[in-house]
Amino acid sequence: MPEGRRRPGRKPGSGPRQDAKDHRHRSDSAPEGRRRDDRPSVEPPPPPASRAADEPGLPTATVVVKAKRARPFFGRHPWVLDTAIERVEGKPADGDVVDLATHEGRFIARGIWNASSRLRVRLYAFEADVPLDAPFWRSRIHAAVALRRALGLDDRSGAARLINSEGDDLSGLIVDRYGDHLAVQVTSLAMAGRLDAICDALEEAVKPAGILLRGADRGLSKLEGLHLPDRVVRGIAPDGPVFIREGNLSWGVDLTEGQKTGFYLDQRENRRAAALLARDRRVLDLFCYSGGFAVTCAVTGAAKSVLAVDGSAKATALARANADFNGAANVTVETADAFTRIDSLAAAGEKFGMVILDPPKFARSRGAIDEALRAYHRINRVGIDLLEPGGILVTCSCSGSVSRDDFLEMLSAVAQRSGRQIAMLECRGAAPDHPVSASCLEGEYLKCVIARVA
Ligand code: SAH
Repeated sequence: MPEGRRRPGRKPGSGPRQDAKDHRHRSDSAPEGRRRDDRPSVEPPPPPASRAADEPGLPTATVVVKAKRARPFFGRHPWVLDTAIERVEGKPADGDVVDLATHEGRFIARGIWNASSRLRVRLYAFEADVPLDAPFWRSRIHAAVALRRALGLDDRSGAARLINSEGDDLSGLIVDRYGDHLAVQVTSLAMAGRLDAICDALEEAVKPAGILLRGADRGLSKLEGLHLPDRVVRGIAPDGPVFIREGNLSWGVDLTEGQKTGFYLDQRENRRAAALLARDRRVLDLFCYSGGFAVTCAVTGAAKSVLAVDGSAKATALARANADFNGAANVTVETADAFTRIDSLAAAGEKFGMVILDPPKFARSRGAIDEALRAYHRINRVGIDLLEPGGILVTCSCSGSVSRDDFLEMLSAVAQRSGRQIAMLECRGAAPDHPVSASCLEGEYLKCVIARVA
């Protein structure tokens, strides 16, 4: 074994090492034998607190899983909740590498510890003896970038999600490329502590003009005890919006103030699918953000006209600018509450040939599912009332805790209540640069149903 791959000295019985040799095959291809620890021998040994840094990527403790709770982790599920843990052998600091073992002492996987989160360990390697060091992260990042290249999404004038957290075996890391700039969202302490290595690898793989940290202190990152303010971590920030091309359209993306990391890349293919059916129709895009569906339907889809509504004035300013920029003169943009506006349109007897509903996440947790389903029911019910016979409904949900089945059942209930036939043409998900790990279906969140309503 090359020196850089040597295991740390372990006390007898300190962990599940006996079967390590059976797991030595690596699925990832980090070049072997790179040593971080090349300091001259005259240096004094580091204090015990820095042992993790001294042995980069090697475990400082073993986390033992409760009996009968190991199965998902053998199936490569990367989240170890506090409730699945029997005991911890050693005293890992937050951000330390730890091994996960069965109560019989069998190695399961290697991950990163965070006592501040209910998600105590995030697993990154399922083979023994793989250090979670800079070459390891580099290899994962290169693999993710290569996948986007294979998907044909490496055009520098366009945009793509380069890293999709668990879908790219990098739990808690999202990286979007907008032209020459990268927007990085970190939602795990594990990834936050390795930001330098991650940015080094991204610079090497993508050669961006700048890397921006975005939205990292919101939502999920709070659950991890993270406080990472938005900032430029490498290179330069764009001076103004970044313009990206998607087919025959150009989008201005606000990388410093925009929602998500600036644009809804996950809806790329769904916008095109909707546009294919928009010809000569009067279209309503109810939660339009920066005009993604609205402008695609107007320009690519040759819709008759588009009414685009969003509750955020910042969003509608972006939508207006994107419509103008693409010469979509038949797009009307309004700042209004969608629930109020949809009722007023129905009360006025307005009719549309296509209604697009892409609301924000209604359910932030499992407990909120029923409430979310009621909200989906309400907008879809009114949305259908607004559709002329033979109209097209494009209805989405980005709430991960609302399952595809729940969403379809909601639509079924809407069909019953409205007495109209809803013929589903397509049940779509997120664009392919948002891969979902079959071991972690929690990563599947976006539903987009395109249906004809009789
Ligand atoms: N379809 C868009 C993304 C929509 S994201 C695209 O493809 O780019 C959801 C949008 O809903 C956000 O822009 C948010 O500002 C808006 N929103 C949230 N609550 C709203 C409300 N009550 N009324 C109107 N818009 C709302």
